[in-house]
Amino acid sequence: MSDMKKTTESPLERLPEPLLAWYRLRARDLPWRRTSDPYPIWVSEIMLQQTRVAAVLGYYARFLEAFPSVEALAQAPEDRLLKLWEGLGYYSRARNLQRAARLITEERGGRFPDTYEGLLALPGVGDYTASAVASAAFGLPEPAVDGNVLRAVARLTDCRDDVLDPAVKKRVRAAVGAVMPRRAEDARVFNQAMMELGATVCIPGGPPRCGECPAAEFCRGRLRGTAETLPVRRAKKPRRVEERTVYVLERDGRIALRRRPETGLLAGLWEFPNTEGPPPDAASAADAVADWGLTAAEWREKLTARHLFTHVEWRMTGYVLRVRGPGAPELLWVDGPGLAECAVPSAFARYYAEARRLLGAETEHQRDR
Ligand code: SF4
Repeated sequence: MSDMKKTTESPLERLPEPLLAWYRLRARDLPWRRTSDPYPIWVSEIMLQQTRVAAVLGYYARFLEAFPSVEALAQAPEDRLLKLWEGLGYYSRARNLQRAARLITEERGGRFPDTYEGLLALPGVGDYTASAVASAAFGLPEPAVDGNVLRAVARLTDCRDDVLDPAVKKRVRAAVGAVMPRRAEDARVFNQAMMELGATVCIPGGPPRCGECPAAEFCRGRLRGTAETLPVRRAKKPRRVEERTVYVLERDGRIALRRRPETGLLAGLWEFPNTEGPPPDAASAADAVADWGLTAAEWREKLTARHLFTHVEWRMTGYVLRVRGPGAPELLWVDGPGLAECAVPSAFARYYAEARRLLGAETEHQRDR
């Protein structure tokens, strides 16, 4: 390529060659990058939605060990699936994985969709995931554009538009698609290389590491000194704060759990009984358990916790109580092993730890007797 041509090309047009060379030398060795089998690639992409690579690695290995094929996932008992997902959050991802696995086995004879449109039609698969799987598994030149890629492209092209605007995202997708290599073996790694650039070099929350970047020579954001101010994002709406009162109820060496509703936040998972609204004082907390057919026998502790969801923040006050009474049918009373089998979302981590401590202490106590 002549120098003349190079200077007239846009930064995006100049990107693929040095980016792929850099990726092949420097990329992190991640297990889903060692395969072109769409099943594990798809599982990794779903897990990586909203979750960092380091957090996903262990879950990915355990998940594929438990469900090594799309058929095994389709047949998995839901509780086992959710238990394996416990701690990753956004549980609808796990349910959608299984719905998609059932669709693939029942309606497609186990054959994975091998086009962008076919992948996009699967439950839980959006534009980004369909492109990521289409390229990594089938070598199709479909650009996958997430926050990492938007950030890198905005800096590279010195784009001052709001990257949260869907029209801007659409434009970026088209622009990246136009320069994406057509050769299957390059298309296969191009999206991964873009993600790697955004995740390890053109990083969020700090100055980009331009000294290590394969695009430094022609990056407009770096050359014009604007990179650190990009990308532009309009202010997000603050999270809605929700106060909740959580009850860790212990009766005869067992702890009460109940199922969350089948729809909405954390649908169908297990939780400690809780009520909406600010916490009552200790006396009214004891009264409140009467609603579950229980009587407070001993007041133990008050534990506060906070959990951030995408749009909501829970501020929780927990009451740890020893109780008596038959209890409402909605309550499931579990011992230590029973608790370990139930998928309890990490929003309740502090109460889960307390329940485990109580059950452990209870076991010791019973042994002593
Ligand atoms: Fe990002 Fe710097 Fe690379 Fe530009 S040169 S793409 S700002 S890391």
